[in-house]
Amino acid sequence: MDKGKRRVVIDPGHGGKDPGAVGLGLQEKEVVLHLAQHVRRALGGYEVDVLLTRETDEWVSLDERARRANEADADLFVSLHCNAGGGQGFESYVHPAAPERTRAIREVLHRRVMAFLASYGIRDRGQKEANFAVLRKTKMPAVLLENLFLDHPRENALLREEAFRKDLAQAIAAGIAQALGLARREAQPPGTGQNPSPAPPSSSAEPAERSRNGRAKPSSG
Ligand SMILES: [Zn+2]
Repeated sequence: MDKGKRRVVIDPGHGGKDPGAVGLGLQEKEVVLHLAQHVRRALGGYEVDVLLTRETDEWVSLDERARRANEADADLFVSLHCNAGGGQGFESYVHPAAPERTRAIREVLHRRVMAFLASYGIRDRGQKEANFAVLRKTKMPAVLLENLFLDHPRENALLREEAFRKDLAQAIAAGIAQALGLARREAQPPGTGQNPSPAPPSSSAEPAERSRNGRAKPSSG
């Protein structure tokens, strides 16, 4: 039953001694780690294993990030970053030598995220290519997302909002799910699935089904 289980590695850029981009009081390493955690939570609604290349504010080399993804034999690697430097908007990257399948996945992911961001009037900077180490050294389809500009006042203000981060992560997760064709994780009737314990379905802890109206639910972070 589990042989087809997909695995996604989410890579929050930078960390520890490397803050990444900084702008107007925000650090890239903090924003992308938070985003990654929200993406993982959102993917809890799908049949997929999710691995983060870092769980805390620690420095992890680019080689090590790729190594962890390769070792996990992941189906997809998504690196999360934020931009700075005077621009604005969202852009995505694949390696210049990326095969067609990677480009198709990126197309879906990019469009899904932009569909969300467009509602905020965020500019689409396009689908780009770059010889980034994490894109070059990972053996599975790999996409890098540059999620807005920390030094753009309005984008900075959005990235500060917990609700916006969650919704952006939700869009990224939905894009991943669509690109990989992930099955939704159904609310399991007692006695089926991987959890053999006959827990009553009255529990308040139900992380699997929170995507549609996750806003209304109390948050754990
Ligand atoms: Zn970065």
